[in-house]
Amino acid sequence: MKKKSLQNDSALHISKGKVVDSNINKNFKRKKRKRPDLKTFVDGICRGDRVLLSQAITLIESKNLAHQALAQKIIEACLPYSGNSLRIGLTGTPGVGKSTFVDSFGSYILKEGVNGLAVLAIDPSSQVTKGSILGDKTRMETLSVHPKVFIRPSPAGDSLGGVARKTRESIILCEAAGFDTIIVETVGVGQSETAVHSMVDFFLLLLLPNAGDELQGIKRGVMEMADLIAINKADGAALPAAKLAKKQCRNGLHLFPPKESNWIATAELCSALKHEGLDTIWKHILSYQNQTSINGYFEHNRQRQAKYWLEESIGAQLKQLFYQSPAVRAVFDQLEQEVVHGKLSPFKAAENLMQLFKEQ
Ligand code: GDP
Repeated sequence: MKKKSLQNDSALHISKGKVVDSNINKNFKRKKRKRPDLKTFVDGICRGDRVLLSQAITLIESKNLAHQALAQKIIEACLPYSGNSLRIGLTGTPGVGKSTFVDSFGSYILKEGVNGLAVLAIDPSSQVTKGSILGDKTRMETLSVHPKVFIRPSPAGDSLGGVARKTRESIILCEAAGFDTIIVETVGVGQSETAVHSMVDFFLLLLLPNAGDELQGIKRGVMEMADLIAINKADGAALPAAKLAKKQCRNGLHLFPPKESNWIATAELCSALKHEGLDTIWKHILSYQNQTSINGYFEHNRQRQAKYWLEESIGAQLKQLFYQSPAVRAVFDQLEQEVVHGKLSPFKAAENLMQLFKEQ
């Protein structure tokens, strides 16, 4: 009896809906939308048109070769209008408060005069879970309805490299569209932090108030990459633990060699939920931008990143060419089996395949 009344009161019930006559819409054909041409895309993006920006990013993410070719032309045309932004990388384990942080920090910096904020995500786990756990619009309630904000979830890709490349290309389009601040968010899966680090100017690591216990578990490399550690959820009963974690993090950071940027990384407290400590974090980021612009590191780092992406792209394209080559495909499975069963060394097999690839 009780159960029944609960069911009736609950807003969570499944409505039966209307039975639709299957004959309805039988002859309805969805009108195919004409894809805008290159000029429309580029003009639109540079005007800040969100719809065209979104569509262009969809082309970047597409597996269709014609779409990819058009995407590359759009990127090339937008390149001269890009680069003029501050790119911030954000990482932290699930539950540390990344979405909440982006929502409140984003709102704060918009009030502080940021002109446009784009939030992109790199989530290599999304292809496993078939759903992005990052960059979800519904998780950033304030920002998702802000007129100066563009949020794009992680592209679904076949590899971290693929996902990261698409995000990097999306940054170029977002910058051409006038967004002067870009946040690239990732959850620490595999090497995703390194991927984000290779495309941002400033790297922010969020940790929980029990970070002290956690410190040994954090990948050393990730801490070393951080330009700032923010101990989030430094509120309520967790405040004393957060203060201790801040101290431990600061001590830990001292053990790393000085950064090439000459920037001294530190740790601060914040509460994304209570909107506290955001001003200090923003001050650090602006001061980093100022300091590294003066000492030349900002530009040097961007140039190095561009070189890295050139090498990455060459590697990815060569690999694609190699695996698509008919000469390689004709014998690949057989050689692979021989390698698996110890009849042929992997190095010799690779050499044979390379020879076939070069001769074709
Ligand atoms: P994400 O998985 O890293 O994106 O984490 P979320 O932003 O989804 O936050 C996970 C949980 O932590 C949510 O229930 C948030 O409300 C909560 N949370 C986030 N930031 C804070 C904070 O500063 N203080 C407290 N007390 N809770 C927070």
